[in-house]
Amino acid sequence: SKTRVYEIAKELGMNSKELIEILQEEFDIQVKSHMSTLEDETVEAIKELIEEMRETKKTEKKHKDLSKDAKELSKEEEEITELTEERTIKEIRLSEENLTLDKLAKVIGVEQNDIIKDMFLKGKILRPGQELDKNTVEEIALSYNTIVSFDSPKIEPEVVESDEEDLELQLAKRWIEIYEKEQDRLTNRPPVVTIMGHVDHGKTSLLDAIRHSHLAEKEEGGITQSIGAYQIEYKGEKITFIDTPGHEAFTEMRARGAQVTDIVVLVIAADDGVMPQTIEACNHAKSANVPIIVAINKIDKPNANIDLTKQQMVSKLNLVPEDWGGDTITVPISAKTSKGIDDLLEMIILVAELQDIKCIPDGKARAVIIESKVDKAMGPLGTVIVKDGILKTGDDFVAGATYGRVRRMINDKGQSVDEATPSTPVQVLGFNDVPSMHSILYVVDSKDEARTIAEKIRQRELEKSQSSNKRHIKLEDIMEMMQAQEKKTLNILLKASTYGEIEALKNAIQKFENPDIDIKIVHAGIGAISTSDIMLASASDAVVLGFRVKADSKAIKMAEAEGIQIRRYNIIFDLIDDLKKALEGMLEPEE
Ligand code: GDP
Repeated sequence: SKTRVYEIAKELGMNSKELIEILQEEFDIQVKSHMSTLEDETVEAIKELIEEMRETKKTEKKHKDLSKDAKELSKEEEEITELTEERTIKEIRLSEENLTLDKLAKVIGVEQNDIIKDMFLKGKILRPGQELDKNTVEEIALSYNTIVSFDSPKIEPEVVESDEEDLELQLAKRWIEIYEKEQDRLTNRPPVVTIMGHVDHGKTSLLDAIRHSHLAEKEEGGITQSIGAYQIEYKGEKITFIDTPGHEAFTEMRARGAQVTDIVVLVIAADDGVMPQTIEACNHAKSANVPIIVAINKIDKPNANIDLTKQQMVSKLNLVPEDWGGDTITVPISAKTSKGIDDLLEMIILVAELQDIKCIPDGKARAVIIESKVDKAMGPLGTVIVKDGILKTGDDFVAGATYGRVRRMINDKGQSVDEATPSTPVQVLGFNDVPSMHSILYVVDSKDEARTIAEKIRQRELEKSQSSNKRHIKLEDIMEMMQAQEKKTLNILLKASTYGEIEALKNAIQKFENPDIDIKIVHAGIGAISTSDIMLASASDAVVLGFRVKADSKAIKMAEAEGIQIRRYNIIFDLIDDLKKALEGMLEPEE
Protein backbone atom coordinates (compact mmCIF):
# COMPACT_ATOMS: atom_id res chain seq x y z
CA SER A 1 0.00 0.00 0.00
CA LYS A 2 1.08 3.52 -0.61
CA THR A 3 0.55 6.62 1.45
CA ARG A 4 0.40 10.17 0.21
CA VAL A 5 2.75 12.81 1.53
CA TYR A 6 0.04 15.07 2.89
CA GLU A 7 -1.47 12.19 4.88
CA ILE A 8 1.80 11.46 6.64
CA ALA A 9 2.37 15.14 7.24
CA LYS A 10 -1.01 15.38 8.87
CA GLU A 11 -0.31 12.37 11.03
CA LEU A 12 2.97 13.86 12.20
CA GLY A 13 1.43 17.25 12.83
CA MET A 14 3.50 19.20 10.31
CA ASN A 15 2.85 20.76 6.93
CA SER A 16 3.62 18.96 3.66
CA LYS A 17 6.23 21.45 2.55
CA GLU A 18 8.36 20.77 5.65
CA LEU A 19 8.02 17.07 5.14
CA ILE A 20 9.03 17.32 1.49
CA GLU A 21 12.16 19.25 2.49
CA ILE A 22 13.12 16.65 5.07
CA LEU A 23 12.57 13.85 2.57
CA GLN A 24 14.92 15.52 0.18
CA GLU A 25 17.58 16.40 2.69
CA GLU A 26 17.62 13.30 4.86
CA PHE A 27 16.50 10.54 2.49
CA ASP A 28 17.47 12.00 -0.83
CA ILE A 29 13.96 11.35 -2.18
CA GLN A 30 12.62 13.83 -4.68
CA VAL A 31 8.90 14.40 -4.15
CA LYS A 32 6.91 16.40 -6.68
CA SER A 33 3.86 17.37 -4.64
CA HIS A 34 1.96 16.65 -1.46
CA MET A 35 -0.18 14.24 -3.47
CA SER A 36 2.83 12.01 -4.26
CA THR A 37 2.90 8.59 -2.72
CA LEU A 38 5.63 6.98 -0.58
CA GLU A 39 6.75 3.38 0.08
CA ASP A 40 5.86 1.90 3.47
CA GLU A 41 9.54 1.57 4.45
CA THR A 42 10.13 5.21 3.75
CA VAL A 43 7.11 6.14 5.83
CA GLU A 44 8.41 4.14 8.80
CA ALA A 45 11.88 5.65 8.53
CA ILE A 46 10.62 9.16 8.33
CA LYS A 47 8.35 8.70 11.32
CA GLU A 48 11.25 7.47 13.36
CA LEU A 49 13.47 10.34 12.34
CA ILE A 50 10.89 12.98 13.17
CA GLU A 51 10.32 11.38 16.56
CA GLU A 52 14.01 11.51 17.25
CA MET A 53 14.30 15.12 16.19
CA ARG A 54 11.47 16.02 18.53
CA GLU A 55 13.09 14.21 21.47
CA THR A 56 16.35 16.10 21.02
CA LYS A 57 14.50 19.38 20.86
CA LYS A 58 12.72 18.54 24.08
CA THR A 59 15.89 17.77 26.00
CA GLU A 60 17.54 20.87 24.60
CA LYS A 61 14.71 22.93 25.91
CA LYS A 62 14.91 21.17 29.24
CA HIS A 63 18.60 22.05 29.50
CA LYS A 64 17.89 25.61 28.59
CA ASP A 65 15.20 25.85 31.23
CA LEU A 66 17.45 24.29 33.82
CA SER A 67 20.29 26.69 33.18
CA LYS A 68 17.79 29.51 33.27
CA ASP A 69 16.62 28.30 36.64
CA ALA A 70 20.17 28.10 37.89
CA LYS A 71 20.87 31.62 36.71
CA GLU A 72 17.79 32.90 38.45
CA LEU A 73 18.74 31.08 41.61
CA SER A 74 22.21 32.54 41.72
CA LYS A 75 20.74 35.94 41.07
CA GLU A 76 18.46 35.42 44.02
CA GLU A 77 21.40 34.36 46.10
CA GLU A 78 23.26 37.49 45.13
CA GLU A 79 20.32 39.57 46.18
CA ILE A 80 20.19 37.81 49.51
CA THR A 81 23.88 38.37 50.21
CA GLU A 82 23.46 41.98 49.19
CA LEU A 83 20.67 42.30 51.67
CA THR A 84 22.64 40.71 54.45
CA GLU A 85 25.64 42.83 53.65
CA GLU A 86 23.58 45.92 53.94
CA ARG A 87 22.50 44.78 57.35
CA THR A 88 25.96 44.18 58.76
CA ILE A 89 25.96 47.01 61.26
CA LYS A 90 23.71 45.99 64.11
CA GLU A 91 22.43 48.11 66.91
CA ILE A 92 21.60 46.69 70.28
CA ARG A 93 20.36 48.12 73.55
CA LEU A 94 21.68 46.75 76.77
CA SER A 95 21.19 47.22 80.42
CA GLU A 96 24.41 48.23 82.06
CA GLU A 97 23.95 46.11 85.09
CA ASN A 98 25.58 42.73 85.49
CA LEU A 99 26.70 42.51 81.95
CA THR A 100 28.81 39.40 81.52
CA LEU A 101 30.73 38.12 78.58
CA ASP A 102 28.45 35.17 77.92
CA LYS A 103 25.38 37.44 77.90
CA LEU A 104 27.07 39.87 75.58
CA ALA A 105 28.06 37.05 73.25
CA LYS A 106 24.43 35.98 73.11
CA VAL A 107 23.09 39.39 72.20
CA ILE A 108 25.76 39.99 69.59
CA GLY A 109 25.14 36.52 68.27
CA VAL A 110 28.68 35.15 68.37
CA GLU A 111 30.35 32.44 70.38
CA GLN A 112 31.79 33.54 73.68
CA ASN A 113 34.93 31.64 72.81
CA ASP A 114 35.36 33.51 69.58
CA ILE A 115 35.23 36.78 71.47
CA ILE A 116 37.84 35.51 73.89
CA LYS A 117 40.07 34.49 71.03
CA ASP A 118 39.61 37.67 69.01
CA MET A 119 40.20 39.89 72.00
CA PHE A 120 43.19 37.85 73.00
CA LEU A 121 44.76 38.59 69.66
CA LYS A 122 44.16 42.25 70.35
CA GLY A 123 45.98 41.90 73.63
CA LYS A 124 43.01 41.71 75.94
CA ILE A 125 42.52 38.70 78.14
CA LEU A 126 38.95 37.77 78.99
CA ARG A 127 37.49 34.84 80.88
CA PRO A 128 34.24 33.06 80.20
CA GLY A 129 31.39 34.68 82.04
CA GLN A 130 33.52 37.61 83.13
CA GLU A 131 31.77 40.83 84.14
CA LEU A 132 32.41 43.63 81.70
CA ASP A 133 32.57 47.36 82.01
CA LYS A 134 30.92 49.64 79.50
CA ASN A 135 34.06 50.42 77.58
CA THR A 136 34.93 46.80 77.12
CA VAL A 137 31.41 46.03 76.01
CA GLU A 138 31.63 48.75 73.40
CA GLU A 139 35.02 47.64 72.26
CA ILE A 140 33.92 44.04 71.86
CA ALA A 141 30.63 44.92 70.20
CA LEU A 142 32.34 47.21 67.71
CA SER A 143 34.66 44.52 66.56
CA TYR A 144 31.55 42.58 65.53
CA ASN A 145 30.04 45.57 63.77
CA THR A 146 27.59 46.15 66.55
CA ILE A 147 26.81 49.45 68.15
CA VAL A 148 25.64 49.40 71.72
CA SER A 149 23.48 51.89 73.47
CA PHE A 150 22.92 51.55 77.18
CA ASP A 151 19.66 51.66 79.04
CA SER A 152 19.35 53.13 82.52
CA PRO A 153 21.75 56.03 82.30
CA LYS A 154 22.71 55.68 85.91
CA ILE A 155 25.71 57.54 87.20
CA GLU A 156 28.70 55.51 86.17
CA PRO A 157 30.76 54.47 89.08
CA GLU A 158 34.23 55.84 88.49
CA VAL A 159 35.97 53.16 86.47
CA VAL A 160 38.92 52.41 88.63
CA GLU A 161 41.61 51.65 86.14
CA SER A 162 43.04 48.43 87.41
CA ASP A 163 46.48 49.72 86.54
CA GLU A 164 48.11 46.76 88.16
CA GLU A 165 46.38 44.35 85.89
CA ASP A 166 46.72 45.96 82.53
CA LEU A 167 49.74 48.21 82.74
CA GLU A 168 51.09 47.08 79.43
CA LEU A 169 47.72 47.31 77.81
CA GLN A 170 47.34 50.84 79.07
CA LEU A 171 50.68 51.65 77.54
CA ALA A 172 49.40 50.29 74.27
CA LYS A 173 46.23 52.37 74.45
CA ARG A 174 47.80 55.42 72.90
CA TRP A 175 48.54 53.43 69.75
CA ILE A 176 45.37 51.38 69.74
CA GLU A 177 43.34 54.56 69.88
CA ILE A 178 45.02 55.94 66.82
CA TYR A 179 44.20 52.72 65.00
CA GLU A 180 40.58 53.07 66.01
CA LYS A 181 40.00 56.78 65.72
CA GLU A 182 42.50 58.16 63.26
CA GLN A 183 42.50 55.67 60.46
CA ASP A 184 43.47 58.37 57.99
CA ARG A 185 46.83 58.54 59.66
CA LEU A 186 47.63 54.91 58.95
CA THR A 187 49.86 54.00 56.04
CA ASN A 188 51.17 50.74 54.66
CA ARG A 189 54.37 49.27 55.97
CA PRO A 190 56.62 46.52 54.61
CA PRO A 191 55.62 42.96 55.51
CA VAL A 192 57.48 41.06 58.21
CA VAL A 193 58.06 37.48 57.12
CA THR A 194 58.98 34.41 59.17
CA ILE A 195 60.33 31.32 57.47
CA MET A 196 59.27 28.07 59.08
CA GLY A 197 59.54 24.38 58.31
CA HIS A 198 61.03 21.04 59.21
CA VAL A 199 64.69 20.86 60.22
CA ASP A 200 67.06 20.58 57.25
CA HIS A 201 64.42 21.55 54.74
CA GLY A 202 66.40 24.69 53.96
CA LYS A 203 65.16 27.59 56.10
CA THR A 204 68.65 28.96 56.77
CA SER A 205 69.75 28.41 53.18
CA LEU A 206 66.69 30.26 51.92
CA LEU A 207 67.29 33.19 54.27
CA ASP A 208 70.89 33.36 53.07
CA ALA A 209 69.95 33.11 49.43
CA ILE A 210 67.42 35.92 49.75
CA ARG A 211 69.78 38.09 51.71
CA HIS A 212 72.68 37.69 49.31
CA SER A 213 70.76 38.19 46.14
CA HIS A 214 68.76 41.20 47.21
CA LEU A 215 70.74 43.56 49.36
CA ALA A 216 69.64 47.05 48.48
CA GLU A 217 72.14 48.39 45.98
CA LYS A 218 73.26 51.39 47.91
CA GLU A 219 74.11 49.17 50.81
CA GLU A 220 76.38 46.88 48.86
CA GLY A 221 79.76 46.69 50.47
CA GLY A 222 78.28 47.17 53.93
CA ILE A 223 79.22 44.41 56.30
CA THR A 224 76.16 42.37 57.01
CA GLN A 225 75.58 41.81 60.64
CA SER A 226 73.36 39.23 62.16
CA ILE A 227 70.97 41.02 64.47
CA GLY A 228 68.13 38.52 64.20
CA ALA A 229 66.31 40.05 61.28
CA TYR A 230 67.10 41.81 58.03
CA GLN A 231 65.40 43.85 55.40
CA ILE A 232 65.79 43.58 51.64
CA GLU A 233 64.48 45.54 48.74
CA TYR A 234 62.88 43.81 45.79
CA LYS A 235 61.64 45.89 42.86
CA GLY A 236 61.53 48.91 45.13
CA GLU A 237 59.49 47.10 47.80
CA LYS A 238 60.94 46.39 51.21
CA ILE A 239 60.48 43.05 52.94
CA THR A 240 61.68 42.23 56.47
CA PHE A 241 62.73 38.69 57.29
CA ILE A 242 63.10 37.40 60.83
CA ASP A 243 66.13 35.17 60.66
CA THR A 244 65.71 33.37 63.90
CA PRO A 245 63.25 30.83 62.64
CA GLY A 246 61.46 28.70 65.12
CA HIS A 247 57.81 28.60 65.75
CA GLU A 248 58.27 28.61 69.49
CA ALA A 249 59.21 32.22 69.31
CA PHE A 250 56.39 32.78 66.89
CA THR A 251 53.75 31.39 69.21
CA GLU A 252 55.23 32.91 72.30
CA MET A 253 55.02 36.33 70.70
CA ARG A 254 51.41 35.74 69.95
CA ALA A 255 50.77 34.65 73.50
CA ARG A 256 52.00 38.08 74.53
CA GLY A 257 49.69 39.74 72.08
CA ALA A 258 52.65 40.90 70.06
CA GLN A 259 52.28 39.17 66.81
CA VAL A 260 55.18 40.37 64.74
CA THR A 261 54.81 38.15 61.70
CA ASP A 262 52.59 39.20 58.81
CA ILE A 263 53.32 36.29 56.48
CA VAL A 264 54.72 32.80 57.02
CA VAL A 265 56.79 31.10 54.35
CA LEU A 266 56.50 27.39 54.98
CA VAL A 267 59.50 25.59 53.50
CA ILE A 268 59.00 21.97 52.45
CA ALA A 269 61.90 20.04 50.89
CA ALA A 270 60.73 18.37 47.70
CA ASP A 271 62.88 15.31 48.37
CA ASP A 272 61.46 14.77 51.84
CA GLY A 273 57.90 16.06 51.77
CA VAL A 274 55.69 17.06 54.67
CA MET A 275 57.31 16.09 57.98
CA PRO A 276 56.18 16.42 61.62
CA GLN A 277 57.64 19.89 62.11
CA THR A 278 56.07 21.02 58.87
CA ILE A 279 52.69 20.10 60.28
CA GLU A 280 53.49 21.77 63.56
CA ALA A 281 54.66 24.97 61.91
CA CYS A 282 51.60 25.00 59.70
CA ASN A 283 49.29 24.66 62.69
CA HIS A 284 51.04 27.44 64.53
CA ALA A 285 50.63 29.75 61.56
CA LYS A 286 47.03 28.73 61.04
CA SER A 287 46.11 29.20 64.65
CA ALA A 288 47.63 32.68 64.53
CA ASN A 289 45.68 33.47 61.38
CA VAL A 290 48.81 34.38 59.47
CA PRO A 291 48.73 33.76 55.71
CA ILE A 292 50.98 30.93 54.56
CA ILE A 293 53.00 30.80 51.36
CA VAL A 294 54.49 27.38 50.67
CA ALA A 295 58.01 27.24 49.23
CA ILE A 296 58.77 23.79 47.85
CA ASN A 297 62.56 23.72 48.19
CA LYS A 298 65.43 21.65 46.80
CA ILE A 299 63.83 21.25 43.39
CA ASP A 300 67.35 21.03 41.95
CA LYS A 301 67.73 17.59 43.50
CA PRO A 302 67.22 14.60 41.22
CA ASN A 303 64.88 12.96 43.67
CA ALA A 304 62.74 16.07 44.14
CA ASN A 305 59.07 15.29 43.71
CA ILE A 306 56.97 18.43 43.50
CA ASP A 307 53.70 16.65 42.77
CA LEU A 308 54.05 14.29 45.69
CA THR A 309 54.87 17.23 47.94
CA LYS A 310 51.72 18.99 46.77
CA GLN A 311 49.70 15.85 47.41
CA GLN A 312 51.01 15.77 50.95
CA MET A 313 50.21 19.46 51.38
CA VAL A 314 46.62 18.58 50.65
CA SER A 315 46.41 15.38 52.67
CA LYS A 316 48.52 16.32 55.66
CA LEU A 317 48.27 20.11 55.89
CA ASN A 318 44.92 20.75 54.35
CA LEU A 319 46.56 23.34 52.13
CA VAL A 320 45.51 23.10 48.49
CA PRO A 321 47.97 24.66 46.03
CA GLU A 322 46.59 27.35 43.76
CA ASP A 323 47.35 25.44 40.58
CA TRP A 324 45.29 22.59 41.98
CA GLY A 325 42.32 24.84 42.45
CA GLY A 326 43.02 25.82 46.04
CA ASP A 327 44.12 29.10 47.55
CA THR A 328 47.58 28.35 48.89
CA ILE A 329 50.27 30.10 46.92
CA THR A 330 52.94 27.52 46.26
CA VAL A 331 56.33 28.36 44.78
CA PRO A 332 58.91 25.75 43.73
CA ILE A 333 62.38 27.00 44.63
CA SER A 334 65.97 26.00 45.10
CA ALA A 335 67.80 27.82 47.85
CA LYS A 336 70.96 26.31 46.39
CA THR A 337 70.68 27.59 42.81
CA SER A 338 68.40 30.55 43.71
CA LYS A 339 65.85 29.31 41.20
CA GLY A 340 62.37 30.57 42.01
CA ILE A 341 63.52 32.97 44.72
CA ASP A 342 62.35 35.99 42.76
CA ASP A 343 58.96 34.34 42.24
CA LEU A 344 58.75 33.80 45.96
CA LEU A 345 59.54 37.46 46.68
CA GLU A 346 56.98 38.48 44.10
CA MET A 347 54.36 36.38 45.89
CA ILE A 348 55.31 37.81 49.27
CA ILE A 349 54.72 41.30 47.93
CA LEU A 350 51.43 40.21 46.40
CA VAL A 351 50.18 38.67 49.64
CA ALA A 352 51.35 41.72 51.57
CA GLU A 353 49.32 43.94 49.27
CA LEU A 354 46.25 41.80 49.79
CA GLN A 355 46.77 41.87 53.54
CA ASP A 356 46.91 45.65 53.50
CA ILE A 357 49.40 45.83 56.34
CA LYS A 358 49.04 49.12 58.18
CA CYS A 359 51.02 51.14 60.70
CA ILE A 360 51.14 54.53 62.31
CA PRO A 361 53.97 56.07 60.33
CA ASP A 362 55.01 58.81 62.73
CA GLY A 363 55.03 59.80 66.35
CA LYS A 364 56.23 57.75 69.28
CA ALA A 365 57.34 54.26 68.44
CA ARG A 366 56.29 50.88 69.67
CA ALA A 367 58.35 47.89 68.69
CA VAL A 368 58.58 44.16 69.29
CA ILE A 369 61.72 42.71 70.83
CA ILE A 370 62.72 39.67 68.79
CA GLU A 371 66.10 38.94 70.32
CA SER A 372 68.10 40.00 73.33
CA LYS A 373 71.48 39.29 74.84
CA VAL A 374 74.29 40.81 76.86
CA ASP A 375 77.38 41.97 75.04
CA LYS A 376 80.54 42.20 77.10
CA ALA A 377 81.46 45.57 75.70
CA MET A 378 78.08 47.10 74.97
CA GLY A 379 75.93 45.73 77.80
CA PRO A 380 72.32 44.56 77.33
CA LEU A 381 71.20 44.55 73.70
CA GLY A 382 67.81 44.03 72.18
CA THR A 383 66.85 43.65 68.55
CA VAL A 384 63.50 45.19 67.82
CA ILE A 385 61.23 45.43 64.83
CA VAL A 386 59.38 48.73 64.88
CA LYS A 387 55.62 48.28 64.58
CA ASP A 388 54.45 51.88 64.72
CA GLY A 389 55.94 55.34 64.82
CA ILE A 390 59.61 56.19 64.53
CA LEU A 391 62.14 54.99 67.02
CA LYS A 392 64.87 57.60 67.57
CA THR A 393 68.08 57.79 69.49
CA GLY A 394 67.43 59.57 72.78
CA ASP A 395 63.91 58.09 73.14
CA ASP A 396 62.94 56.91 76.63
CA PHE A 397 61.21 53.59 76.63
CA VAL A 398 59.82 50.78 78.71
CA ALA A 399 59.89 47.14 77.59
CA GLY A 400 58.21 44.77 79.99
CA ALA A 401 60.05 44.98 83.26
CA THR A 402 63.04 46.73 81.68
CA TYR A 403 63.44 50.32 80.59
CA GLY A 404 66.06 52.61 79.16
CA ARG A 405 66.99 55.32 76.69
CA VAL A 406 68.04 54.56 73.12
CA ARG A 407 71.78 55.28 73.18
CA ARG A 408 72.61 53.84 69.82
CA MET A 409 70.87 51.86 67.08
CA ILE A 410 72.59 49.48 64.69
CA ASN A 411 70.87 48.22 61.56
CA ASP A 412 71.23 44.87 59.78
CA LYS A 413 74.14 46.20 57.76
CA GLY A 414 76.09 47.04 60.88
CA GLN A 415 75.57 50.78 60.44
CA SER A 416 74.57 53.18 63.17
CA VAL A 417 71.26 54.87 62.50
CA ASP A 418 69.36 57.61 64.29
CA GLU A 419 65.88 56.58 63.26
CA ALA A 420 64.03 53.37 62.59
CA THR A 421 60.70 53.35 60.73
CA PRO A 422 57.97 50.67 60.86
CA SER A 423 59.03 47.12 59.97
CA THR A 424 62.70 48.06 60.25
CA PRO A 425 64.81 45.81 62.45
CA VAL A 426 67.46 47.48 64.61
CA GLN A 427 69.60 46.51 67.51
CA VAL A 428 69.08 48.88 70.42
CA LEU A 429 71.65 49.84 73.04
CA GLY A 430 70.57 51.46 76.27
CA PHE A 431 68.49 48.91 78.19
CA ASN A 432 68.95 48.93 81.95
CA ASP A 433 68.78 45.14 81.87
CA VAL A 434 68.32 42.35 79.34
CA PRO A 435 64.76 42.70 78.07
CA SER A 436 62.58 39.61 77.81
CA MET A 437 62.32 38.32 74.33
CA HIS A 438 59.08 39.15 72.59
CA SER A 439 58.01 41.82 74.99
CA ILE A 440 56.92 45.11 73.50
CA LEU A 441 58.93 48.28 73.69
CA TYR A 442 56.92 51.46 74.17
CA VAL A 443 58.41 54.92 73.89
CA VAL A 444 57.22 57.11 76.76
CA ASP A 445 57.57 60.76 77.71
CA SER A 446 60.35 60.62 80.23
CA LYS A 447 62.89 58.45 81.90
CA ASP A 448 60.97 58.72 85.17
CA GLU A 449 57.78 57.50 83.57
CA ALA A 450 59.69 54.62 81.99
CA ARG A 451 61.29 53.59 85.26
CA THR A 452 58.08 53.83 87.26
CA ILE A 453 56.12 51.68 84.83
CA ALA A 454 58.90 49.12 84.47
CA GLU A 455 59.16 48.77 88.20
CA LYS A 456 55.43 48.24 88.56
CA ILE A 457 55.53 45.61 85.86
CA ARG A 458 58.43 43.87 87.54
CA GLN A 459 56.55 43.89 90.81
CA ARG A 460 53.53 42.36 89.19
CA GLU A 461 55.55 39.69 87.46
CA LEU A 462 57.03 38.77 90.80
CA GLU A 463 53.65 38.55 92.46
CA LYS A 464 52.33 36.50 89.62
CA SER A 465 55.14 34.00 89.75
CA GLN A 466 54.61 33.61 93.48
CA SER A 467 50.87 33.28 93.32
CA SER A 468 49.01 30.52 91.60
CA ASN A 469 49.47 29.37 88.07
CA LYS A 470 47.77 30.95 85.20
CA ARG A 471 44.43 29.31 84.90
CA HIS A 472 43.95 27.03 81.94
CA ILE A 473 41.44 24.36 81.31
CA LYS A 474 41.83 20.99 82.94
CA LEU A 475 40.09 17.96 81.62
CA GLU A 476 38.16 17.33 84.84
CA ASP A 477 36.85 20.90 84.85
CA ILE A 478 35.55 20.90 81.35
CA MET A 479 31.95 20.31 82.25
CA GLU A 480 31.88 23.03 84.85
CA MET A 481 33.63 25.47 82.60
CA MET A 482 31.46 24.67 79.69
CA GLN A 483 28.22 25.01 81.55
CA ALA A 484 28.79 28.72 81.63
CA GLN A 485 28.91 28.82 77.87
CA GLU A 486 26.37 28.61 75.15
CA LYS A 487 28.36 26.38 72.89
CA LYS A 488 30.77 24.04 74.55
CA THR A 489 34.20 23.91 73.07
CA LEU A 490 37.01 21.62 73.98
CA ASN A 491 40.42 22.25 72.46
CA ILE A 492 42.77 19.31 72.35
CA LEU A 493 46.42 19.12 71.42
CA LEU A 494 47.22 15.54 70.55
CA LYS A 495 50.62 13.89 70.46
CA ALA A 496 51.14 10.24 69.57
CA SER A 497 53.91 7.98 68.39
CA THR A 498 52.60 7.15 64.90
CA TYR A 499 50.31 8.63 62.28
CA GLY A 500 48.15 5.54 62.52
CA GLU A 501 47.50 6.26 66.17
CA ILE A 502 46.68 9.86 65.42
CA GLU A 503 44.16 8.86 62.80
CA ALA A 504 42.60 6.32 65.15
CA LEU A 505 42.41 8.82 68.01
CA LYS A 506 41.04 11.58 65.81
CA ASN A 507 38.28 9.27 64.66
CA ALA A 508 37.47 8.17 68.16
CA ILE A 509 37.48 11.73 69.50
CA GLN A 510 35.33 13.03 66.69
CA LYS A 511 32.61 10.61 67.79
CA PHE A 512 32.01 12.82 70.80
CA GLU A 513 31.00 15.71 68.61
CA ASN A 514 27.36 16.65 68.90
CA PRO A 515 25.41 19.84 68.43
CA ASP A 516 26.24 20.92 71.97
CA ILE A 517 29.93 20.34 71.94
CA ASP A 518 32.61 21.41 69.58
CA ILE A 519 35.78 19.38 69.91
CA LYS A 520 38.68 20.95 68.14
CA ILE A 521 42.03 19.30 67.70
CA VAL A 522 44.25 22.36 67.50
CA HIS A 523 47.28 20.30 66.67
CA ALA A 524 48.07 16.63 66.21
CA GLY A 525 51.67 15.58 65.92
CA ILE A 526 54.14 12.79 66.33
CA GLY A 527 56.75 12.57 69.06
CA ALA A 528 57.38 13.70 72.59
CA ILE A 529 55.38 16.57 74.04
CA SER A 530 57.61 19.63 73.64
CA THR A 531 57.71 23.19 74.90
CA SER A 532 56.35 24.27 71.58
CA ASP A 533 53.29 22.09 72.13
CA ILE A 534 52.77 23.66 75.52
CA MET A 535 52.99 27.13 74.06
CA LEU A 536 50.46 26.32 71.41
CA ALA A 537 48.21 24.73 74.02
CA SER A 538 48.55 27.82 76.16
CA ALA A 539 47.75 30.17 73.32
CA SER A 540 44.69 28.18 72.33
CA ASP A 541 43.71 27.05 75.82
CA ALA A 542 43.94 23.39 74.99
CA VAL A 543 44.37 20.23 77.00
CA VAL A 544 47.43 18.21 75.97
CA LEU A 545 46.77 14.52 75.46
CA GLY A 546 49.79 12.30 74.88
CA PHE A 547 49.40 8.81 73.53
CA ARG A 548 52.36 6.49 73.99
CA VAL A 549 54.70 9.48 74.10
CA LYS A 550 56.70 11.14 76.83
CA ALA A 551 56.88 14.79 77.67
CA ASP A 552 60.21 16.68 77.67
CA SER A 553 61.27 17.74 81.13
CA LYS A 554 61.34 21.32 79.87
CA ALA A 555 57.83 20.92 78.57
CA ILE A 556 56.63 19.56 81.90
CA LYS A 557 58.12 22.53 83.72
CA MET A 558 56.60 24.94 81.30
CA ALA A 559 53.22 23.24 81.53
CA GLU A 560 53.34 23.62 85.27
CA ALA A 561 54.19 27.28 85.01
CA GLU A 562 51.49 27.89 82.43
CA GLY A 563 48.89 25.77 84.16
CA ILE A 564 48.50 23.52 81.15
CA GLN A 565 47.28 20.02 81.79
CA ILE A 566 49.13 17.12 80.21
CA ARG A 567 47.47 13.73 80.34
CA ARG A 568 49.26 10.69 79.00
CA TYR A 569 47.80 7.38 77.94
CA ASN A 570 48.92 4.03 76.61
CA ILE A 571 45.55 2.59 75.76
CA ILE A 572 43.06 4.26 73.49
CA PHE A 573 40.21 3.02 75.62
CA ASP A 574 41.55 4.88 78.68
CA LEU A 575 41.85 8.11 76.77
CA ILE A 576 38.37 7.80 75.35
CA ASP A 577 37.00 6.80 78.72
CA ASP A 578 38.50 9.87 80.38
CA LEU A 579 37.12 12.10 77.67
CA LYS A 580 33.73 10.57 78.10
CA LYS A 581 33.84 11.05 81.84
CA ALA A 582 35.11 14.59 81.42
CA LEU A 583 32.23 15.43 79.17
CA GLU A 584 29.82 13.96 81.65
CA GLY A 585 31.48 15.96 84.42
CA MET A 586 32.57 12.82 86.26
CA LEU A 587 36.31 12.81 85.77
CA GLU A 588 38.38 12.82 88.94
CA PRO A 589 41.29 15.23 89.06
CA GLU A 590 44.72 13.70 88.65
CA GLU A 591 46.99 12.73 91.58
P1 GDP B 1 67.28 24.32 58.01
O1 GDP B 1 67.59 23.34 59.08
O2 GDP B 1 65.85 24.26 57.60
O3 GDP B 1 67.73 25.72 58.30
O4 GDP B 1 68.06 23.81 56.71
P2 GDP B 1 69.44 24.31 56.09
O5 GDP B 1 69.24 25.60 55.38
O6 GDP B 1 70.50 24.23 57.12
O7 GDP B 1 69.65 23.19 54.98
C1 GDP B 1 69.84 21.83 55.29
C2 GDP B 1 70.68 21.18 54.22
O8 GDP B 1 70.00 21.18 52.98
C3 GDP B 1 72.01 21.88 54.00
O9 GDP B 1 72.99 20.91 53.76
C4 GDP B 1 71.77 22.69 52.74
O10 GDP B 1 72.96 22.89 52.00
C5 GDP B 1 70.80 21.82 51.98
N1 GDP B 1 69.92 22.60 51.11
C6 GDP B 1 69.15 23.64 51.46
N2 GDP B 1 68.46 24.10 50.38
C7 GDP B 1 68.82 23.33 49.33
C8 GDP B 1 68.45 23.31 47.94
O11 GDP B 1 67.65 24.10 47.44
N3 GDP B 1 69.02 22.34 47.18
C9 GDP B 1 69.89 21.44 47.67
N4 GDP B 1 70.38 20.53 46.84
N5 GDP B 1 70.27 21.45 48.97
C10 GDP B 1 69.75 22.37 49.79
